[in-house]
Amino acid sequence: MGTAPKALRLHVGLFGRRNAGKSALVNAIAGQPVAIVSATPGTTTDPVEKAMELQPIGPIVLIDTAGLDDEGALGGLRVAKTEALVARTDVALIVAAAGAWGALEDGLLARFGAAGVPVVAVMSHADLKAAPPELVARLEAAGAAVVSTVAPTGEGVQRLREAIIRAAPDGFVEPPSLLGDLVPAGGVVVLVVPIDLEAPRGRLIQAQVQVIRDALDHDAICVMARETRLADVFASLSAPPALVVTDSQAFGLVARVTPPEVPLTSFSILFARVKGDLATFAAGAEAIDRLRPGDKVLVCEACTHHPIGDDIGRVKLPRWLGEHAGGALDVEVRAGRDFPDDLGPYRLVVHCGACVHSRREVLARVARARAQGVPMTNYGVAIAKTHGILARALAPLRGREVAPAPPSASAAAPAAFGRP
Ligand code: SF4
Repeated sequence: MGTAPKALRLHVGLFGRRNAGKSALVNAIAGQPVAIVSATPGTTTDPVEKAMELQPIGPIVLIDTAGLDDEGALGGLRVAKTEALVARTDVALIVAAAGAWGALEDGLLARFGAAGVPVVAVMSHADLKAAPPELVARLEAAGAAVVSTVAPTGEGVQRLREAIIRAAPDGFVEPPSLLGDLVPAGGVVVLVVPIDLEAPRGRLIQAQVQVIRDALDHDAICVMARETRLADVFASLSAPPALVVTDSQAFGLVARVTPPEVPLTSFSILFARVKGDLATFAAGAEAIDRLRPGDKVLVCEACTHHPIGDDIGRVKLPRWLGEHAGGALDVEVRAGRDFPDDLGPYRLVVHCGACVHSRREVLARVARARAQGVPMTNYGVAIAKTHGILARALAPLRGREVAPAPPSASAAAPAAFGRP
């Protein structure tokens, strides 16, 4: 972690008045004492920087700044130093104690807004006084995320970490390609799409459309067929394809038909690295081996589609997981924005491919599961695991768990399969 150059880290600046609780927040976010905390206003004189990992997005720098209401000649110099940090800030935390948000904070909000820097408004010391709802509504309407914290007890700190992930600019969290690094220009990618009851009438689903578009963007040749025609596809090609991508539900049949030397994965595994954290999901799948009948499992779908027939999240996946565990599990399904605060009751979280969510939204969920020590995986990875083909399905992405990534993410690269 310490080797990531500073310039490649997400810079998170904490701004506000003296004694707003900025230093205590730096320590709470970092999980260790970095900044000196005292009740004496103006204890932080020069900016204090702390490099740390904010998983799962990678390396960041927290910058604790002097209070912007500092007084006197020296105070003026400190304020000037703090103002110079505005230009170096990727995400601004404007910290106000006990709901005391005034003209100074509004000025900061306007300044960061004009500079296009995302803002998280942090209502510190929330145990002393909560921020008025009308203030929270006004700040949210202005585009700021609002989080209440009590740094000494850790209350709200995980939410703040998640808010930072959500606020991080695209370049820090958005790997650009689904399969552009897996298939050479002119190479053939075979897409396997079952047309069953669940397939929407007259169209393809978002995940399939996005993979096709990505393949075309990278000048690959797409061949598409139902799983029942896959053998015909292989027979018609003059050379093996560069990659086969299947709907996870057809993994069993497709793995049997696809020659072992042909790389094989699934749509949702491609999405796992672009819309989530593939290394975390691969490690999380190992928890499937530890499931026992009756264990509580949370299944999350990012969209709110109407379930029909053998719905993947409500019927097939619970059945496959239950067969693997040796008996039925207690499976709870949440859809859309519904993601529990407390993941403690669950032995495993299984997320869909999240084709309608941004990566930052999924990473915030990954961060919550990680903070609570709950394993998390996704549909494609879990299905490959229950079908006994996880190693094969992950093999095309081995060493590329983070897709050709922005500098900070690649510098973080934890990302070996099976990491603890
Ligand atoms: S959001 Fe999830 S459940 Fe909905 S279509 Fe996309 S991958 Fe499937």
